[in-house]
Amino acid sequence: MAIRVVVWGENIHDRENEVVRNLYPNGMHGTIAEALNHEADIEASTATLEQPEHGLTADRLAQTDVLTWWGHKNHGGVDDAVVERVAQRVWEGMGLLVLHSGHFSKIFKKLMGTPCSLTWREAGEKERVWAINRSHPIARGLDPFFVVPQSEMYGEPFAVPEPMETVFISWYDGGEVFRSGLTYQRGAGRIFYFAPGHEVYPIYTDPNIQTVLRNAVRWAFNPAKPLTGITDAPNRPVAEALEPIAERGPSLHVPGEAGFK
Ligand code: ZN
Repeated sequence: MAIRVVVWGENIHDRENEVVRNLYPNGMHGTIAEALNHEADIEASTATLEQPEHGLTADRLAQTDVLTWWGHKNHGGVDDAVVERVAQRVWEGMGLLVLHSGHFSKIFKKLMGTPCSLTWREAGEKERVWAINRSHPIARGLDPFFVVPQSEMYGEPFAVPEPMETVFISWYDGGEVFRSGLTYQRGAGRIFYFAPGHEVYPIYTDPNIQTVLRNAVRWAFNPAKPLTGITDAPNRPVAEALEPIAERGPSLHVPGEAGFK
């Protein structure tokens, strides 16, 4: 069975900005989904902010193996209930790819637990993306580095937790460097943050970028049966031990209180 991907796009600049509209007539999400659907083992569809529940109903998320997230203009417009729902699915085992300005999304900040801020400059600079973890599955098929001819500079310090792995580091014309490809695990879910993707440049049509996205989808896919009910599960008292034990006081909790027999 193919990996079921939902490509989520904020779809604001895609519609309202003429430059972006010309680069991505079907929206950035449309271009990304098309690139993923090029592969027989990936089945990608799209969802956008303006749809009911942002296109991310509980049923849809239950049928999603990997979610990709691109937002910029209206992170605050994403409903907190949907953010909770996405986080729960990540903890259950859904993969999450956070793209470019998605670093400042509610879902990424929640899962990282840090401000996720960075420095930036929009000057159409050349970005050299170094695959510093050459044996990582997300770097498969890439040269030691590739160049994005025009990019938005994202610079350090990037206020994220120390990643599980650093796959890519970028260098820009202006001299800054940035940890541009980072992996995390939260609960049973794998997360990949990937920096290139500013909307006024044709970055998502770049073959190297598309290779990274396909590799990342495959890496983030967790084929195990999803864990369910994680956030609903309360702490539970274990009334009886499996082996004989000698009870030693004092005890705070007493039989008869909530949770005890
Ligand atoms: Zn940008």
